[in-house]
Amino acid sequence: MSGKEFDIIVIGSGPAGLTAAIYASRGKLKTLVIAGEEPGGQLTLTTDVEDFPGFVEVIQGPDLMVRMRKQSQRLGAEFVDGNVTNVDFSSTPFKVATNLESFVGKTIVLATGASAKWLDLPSEKKLIGKGVSSCAVCDGAFFRDKKLALVGGGDSAMREALFLTKFASEVKVIHRRNKLRAFQSLQDKAFSNPKIKFIWDSTILEVLGENKVEGVKIKNLKTNKITDMKIGGLFVAIGHIPNTQFLKGQIDLDKKGYVIVTDNTKTSTPGVFAGGDVHDWRYQQAVTAAGAGCMAAMDAQDWLEEK
Ligand code: NAP
Repeated sequence: MSGKEFDIIVIGSGPAGLTAAIYASRGKLKTLVIAGEEPGGQLTLTTDVEDFPGFVEVIQGPDLMVRMRKQSQRLGAEFVDGNVTNVDFSSTPFKVATNLESFVGKTIVLATGASAKWLDLPSEKKLIGKGVSSCAVCDGAFFRDKKLALVGGGDSAMREALFLTKFASEVKVIHRRNKLRAFQSLQDKAFSNPKIKFIWDSTILEVLGENKVEGVKIKNLKTNKITDMKIGGLFVAIGHIPNTQFLKGQIDLDKKGYVIVTDNTKTSTPGVFAGGDVHDWRYQQAVTAAGAGCMAAMDAQDWLEEK
């Protein structure tokens, strides 16, 4: 692999990658962003963003990402839209390839994020951002006094269900088994919350509604009984998959595939840094990802200067 050389290659174009690009290009580094096949990351799947500081009025997720991209381009960052298929971090400068082109970077920022797992129903896909969400912290406040459903039985599901009770009139947790895998303390809190009700051994067959969520069709896996339930929103909390398949064997990943970092942004390969949901399964917010992207770019710049 060879190709055009950059001081820094940022892989990923969500809030972490674009903030890294803003800081790197403003620091006069020759910066390339490899933006992925769905540039903008998870925020492009949301509509109203109310919790990104600086916007008095609600901003749309895709608009926020376009603004960040234009800001980094104004400061000099170059972009290619494509997925990274192959990297070689065995020696410097580092090599990165997409399906079409190869590039060389003196330093790398990994910001490919994590993708929410979905139920993979066409009706769910149609209503993402129209009442179907994978992030209670981001979208819960839009569902005041609504009856909601939430799918999942892990830590995230219980945390999100508890969070949603601040707004919703009721949260029905739909779980495919009759036992949760969440920490006992989270289970206890959920069981004792009067707004949370459980529907066990059940799966969602269809999300009902044309332009907004109006209900779900549920199947009980033990009795095969199918029922429709009226709800005003559906939260899917069945886990995330970090976008790190192309990094296997190149840097250390944990058993779920998240990049392992030390000292905030350092990966196991000196000169390769990471920021955002690609290593942070805990906070998963646009603003925390942006902060981590800033840290990764600053650490990359320090590393280059030390060299
Ligand atoms: P998780 O632990 O993998 O749980 C996913 C849940 O979704 C499981 O209950 C699973 O059911 C269910 N599920 C998976 N695929 C499904 C499908 N296709 N249809 C219906 N249900 C499905 O994921 P997570 O809760 O996001 O947690 C990820 C990691 O972050 C875990 O290690 C967790 O401990 C950690 N975490 C920790 C905290 C904390 O407060 N400490 C908070 C959030 C996350 P089954 O149970 O039947 O497999």
